[in-house]
Amino acid sequence: MSTYVASILRTVEIIMSSKYLIAFTGAGISAESGVPTFRGSPDSLWSRFKPEELATPEAFLRNPRRVWEWYVWRMSIIKKAKPNDAHLGLARLEELGILKCVVTQNVDGLHSRAGSKYIIELHGNIWRVKCSNPSCNYKAILEDIPKEIPPKCPYCSSLLRPDVVWFGEPLDPEIWDRAVNEASKADAILVIGTSGVVYPAAYIPLIVKERGGKVIEVNISESGITPYADVFIKEKASKALRDIVRLCEERINARKAST
Ligand code: NAD
Ligand code: ZN
Repeated sequence: MSTYVASILRTVEIIMSSKYLIAFTGAGISAESGVPTFRGSPDSLWSRFKPEELATPEAFLRNPRRVWEWYVWRMSIIKKAKPNDAHLGLARLEELGILKCVVTQNVDGLHSRAGSKYIIELHGNIWRVKCSNPSCNYKAILEDIPKEIPPKCPYCSSLLRPDVVWFGEPLDPEIWDRAVNEASKADAILVIGTSGVVYPAAYIPLIVKERGGKVIEVNISESGITPYADVFIKEKASKALRDIVRLCEERINARKAST
């Protein structure tokens, strides 16, 4: 039996006997949908652009147009992208009652487009904007890519900014509490396509591990999670999830047939 097959079988065993499975995803789950990751590939965004020039509040103050141009470019990629078998697989596991929640670092909205219902977006969503004026509460969901950049707030005329968490910014405390609460309930976590180096997000699988839960990781290369993963599936997210979901469905059907 290959290492890959053994790790998939062990994964199915763990998740079929788990009481509360959650997923934790990063940019790698969307890579096969054509959305570039930040790290871990030669064409990753950060190898072509400096993050400190684009995804920080200081960069926005310095050059809002440049930051918006970068977001418009990312939005145009994400708009064309379709959920892949990994996003669809997680939605299917939720439908089967096996997966309880997806905690994602992604801002691309592909989990929701795949049909997942209970999603916690730790870093916001690229299709939302908020006013950059801290005393104005304006927020909106974008119908499409903004035509004029940088867009302005209809209430106070300050600049609108993407409603995402930038480097150096804190997470929304309510969203973070929900994620910690899910991790505290989980007895198993499926970690997919994250380098596991962005904190506090990367604490989520660690919380599950420290409470005695099982950590299953799917990644094409080793990450910050790998040293404490109980199962490491070194494979692309879409293939691994196709195989996991197929075997879970077979188990469920076999159980039904025997009762
Ligand atoms: P990252 O770019 O740091 O790491 C991506 C990881 O995915 C790497 O470990 C890589 O080995 C793995 N990977 C690449 N292709 C894969 C595949 N086909 N299957 C499985 N694994 C694969 O991403 P991260 O850990 O999410 O970084 C955190 C930050 O990046 C977050 O703040 C997030 O908001 C942001 N981000 C989001 C998006 C998006 O919304 N799609 C895209 C880029 C970055
Ligand atoms: Zn405003």
